[in-house]
Amino acid sequence: MFNEIEKHNHEEVVFCSDKASGLRAIIAIHDTTLGPAIGGTRMWNYSGEEEALKDALRLSRQMTYKAAVTGLNLGGGKAIIMGDPKKDKSELLFRTFGKFVNGLGGRYITAEDVGTDVKDMEYVRMETKHVTGISKALGGSGNPSTVTAFGVFVGMKASAHKKWGSDSLKGKKIAIQGVGSVGRYLAEYLYAEGSELFITDIDNDKISSALHTIKAHVVSPEEIYDIDCDIFSPNALGSVVNDETIPRLKCEIIAGGANSQLDDEEKHGKILKEKGILFAPDYVINAGGLINVANELEGYRQDRAMKQAEAIYDILQNIYSISERENISTISAANHIAEERLNKIGKMKHIYSANNK
Ligand code: NAD
Repeated sequence: MFNEIEKHNHEEVVFCSDKASGLRAIIAIHDTTLGPAIGGTRMWNYSGEEEALKDALRLSRQMTYKAAVTGLNLGGGKAIIMGDPKKDKSELLFRTFGKFVNGLGGRYITAEDVGTDVKDMEYVRMETKHVTGISKALGGSGNPSTVTAFGVFVGMKASAHKKWGSDSLKGKKIAIQGVGSVGRYLAEYLYAEGSELFITDIDNDKISSALHTIKAHVVSPEEIYDIDCDIFSPNALGSVVNDETIPRLKCEIIAGGANSQLDDEEKHGKILKEKGILFAPDYVINAGGLINVANELEGYRQDRAMKQAEAIYDILQNIYSISERENISTISAANHIAEERLNKIGKMKHIYSANNK
C-alpha cells in the first residue's frame, strides 16, 4: 500500500471507518503546494479496498493537475465512499463522513462527484464548512454541469480554431457520447451554434429528454465510434479512446467532458498525434466544474464562474502551441504546464520557509 501511495508522491491518505453508519471511505490528498486539496466524493460499489484506493489515488492526482493547469490556487484531493449509491445512502453516513472531512481542518475540501449529489453534500455541510457544491438556496453553486458544459463548448471552439482556422462550429458534424448532465447542456450549446449532432446514450430516457430541446441523429452506443464526423465528444465514461476504438474514429478532433478518456495517456496521446487527431486534454477542457466550485469558496456568482471558464480557450491554445513546438502529445504538453507551475510554486514556498528560519 505504501508503495502505491509513494509512487506519485501523495501527501496523505486517510482511511475512515465507522460501524454505526457503515461508512468506509478513503480521502486521498495528493498535493497541497498550490492550496488546499479540492476534489469530489465518489460513491461506488468497489470490488474491494485495493480498487477503491487505486481510484482515490488516481483521481486526486488528476485534480492536482487540473487545478495547476487552470491557474487556480488549489491542490488535488479526492474522496471515495465504498457502497451502492442507490441503496446505502443515509443522513448518518454523510454526516459521519463530514466529521472526517472536518478533522482534516481544511486541508481537504470536498464536493459532489459520481454517485453523490447536492443533497448528500448538504448533510456533509452540517458537520463541516469544508464542502462545496451545495444548493443555491444555501448559498452554494448547485450542480456544476452547466459551467462544465460551457467550458467544453469554449474548448471545442479553441480546438476548431487550431484545426480549421476558425472558431465556428456551424455545420460541423459532432458525435456526442452520453447526454447526461454535461452532454445534454453541451448539445444545447452546439445546437444553438448550428452544428449537426449525432447523439447516443445507454439510457433512452436521457435521449428522449435531450430531444425536447435539440434536433439530432440518434445512434446506438456502439455506432458512435464509427460516425463520419468532425468532432468526437466523449461525455460518459473513461478509457473510451483505446486500441480498439482509435482505428474506428473518423474525426479530426476529440473534445468532451468525460474524465480519463485515454485508456493509456502516453501511448494513446502519441498515437492520436501521429494520426493528426487533435485531442483536447480531458482534465483541461472539463475544468469548468472545478472552476465553478472554486468560485463558491469566494461567494458564488455564476456570471463570474462562466467568465472564468472562458479561460479554457486560451489555456488550450497554449497547450496546442507547446505540443506543436515540442512535438509532444497534447496531454504531455498539459502535464508539463501543470508540473512546471507546481515546481515553481513549490520552490517559492521553500525560499519563504528558509528565509524565516
Ligand atoms: P451523468 O451520469 O449525468 O451522464 C453520463 C451519461 O452517460 C448518462 O446519461 C449515462 O446513461 C451515459 N452513458 C453511460 N455509459 C454510456 C455508454 N457506454 N454509451 C453512451 N452513454 C453512456 O454524468 P455527467 O455529470 O454528465 O458526467 C459525464 C462525464 O463528465 C463523467 O466522466 C464525469 O466524470 C465528467 N465530468 C463531469 C463534470 C460535471 O460537472 N458534471 C465535471 C467534470 C467532469
